[in-house]
Amino acid sequence: MRAVKLTSPGTLELVETPIPEPGPGQVRVKVAGAGLCHSDLHVLHLKSPWPGPALTLGHEGSGWIDALGAGVTGVTEGDPVLVNLIWSCGHCRPCVMGRDNACVSGGRHNHPPTPGLGPDGAMAEYMLVPVRHALPLGDIDPVTAGPLADAALTPMRAINSVRDRLTPGSTAVVIGVGGLGHLAVQILHASTSARIIAVDMSDDKLDLARRHGADLAVDSRGDAAEQILAESDGYGVDAVFDFAGVQPTVDLATSIVAPEGVVRLVGLGGGGLRFGADADTRALPWGVDIRKSYGGTLADLTEVIALAAQQKLTVESTVYPLDDFQRAFDDLDAGRVTGRAILQP
Ligand SMILES: [Zn+2]
Ligand SMILES: [Zn+2]
Repeated sequence: MRAVKLTSPGTLELVETPIPEPGPGQVRVKVAGAGLCHSDLHVLHLKSPWPGPALTLGHEGSGWIDALGAGVTGVTEGDPVLVNLIWSCGHCRPCVMGRDNACVSGGRHNHPPTPGLGPDGAMAEYMLVPVRHALPLGDIDPVTAGPLADAALTPMRAINSVRDRLTPGSTAVVIGVGGLGHLAVQILHASTSARIIAVDMSDDKLDLARRHGADLAVDSRGDAAEQILAESDGYGVDAVFDFAGVQPTVDLATSIVAPEGVVRLVGLGGGGLRFGADADTRALPWGVDIRKSYGGTLADLTEVIALAAQQKLTVESTVYPLDDFQRAFDDLDAGRVTGRAILQP
């Protein structure tokens, strides 16, 4: 079979490799589509050989169950499935308490096993998946469903962590209307009563946000902080979701959040917080709750699939043939992708 592998830092190659055989507890999935994520670019450009030699990338996979390993029950060949992002163990304390995105298998400084960032991922014709992490897709088209596993799951976790704040009369701000951000706008629109303000620096992405339910789209090439504060009587907004995480967006988040409001830092752009443990409320108002949000839980993913099944969540996507992977990566790197790029084997 063909697989897109990271053969050395900075180099991806389409490699011919044997079709893998499922072991006990695993299923083999015939991949229908694999989403591209900025994390893939991050891994590609790492200078060290991590995450290991000849890794097949792709952590946003979906397809059809193709073969069952020993002991696997409850699924049938041909079932359409979404491959979960975080292959948690299901037994440790965080898993049992429903925080499986923080499964101890990742240790303190890494993350739990994730396809395409450890085990071989979805940018191939077939992949192996623990059956617990192959979730039924029902009638959802598997070709474009892959991004639900990260680009929708990750915003769902961030939003679920503040859901009690998103009551009628509240305002939520989504910074960055890319792969994750355009799905965050839809999740907020479909499942909360918050007023939604989207922020981006691209006309196309501001249009995308408006089409998917943003009440207001703010161009960050202007003074976004001033405009958003004016929209909230100078007081600030209830919740800010930052899907870029670069310094200007982290600064924007802390400068528009209301006292006792919440900030969820999701994008991994390397920005930092500047506030101190002092009485200065210009850098950060009193009581603000900040979280570095990671992935999502199996419960979050079932909610994502339910919203998509109700056609309340649409992945805007461009599908590229697997063989054309380099063009897809180049387009993502250059900011030419609206929504998500998907590789189809
Ligand atoms: Zn990702
Ligand atoms: Zn666990």
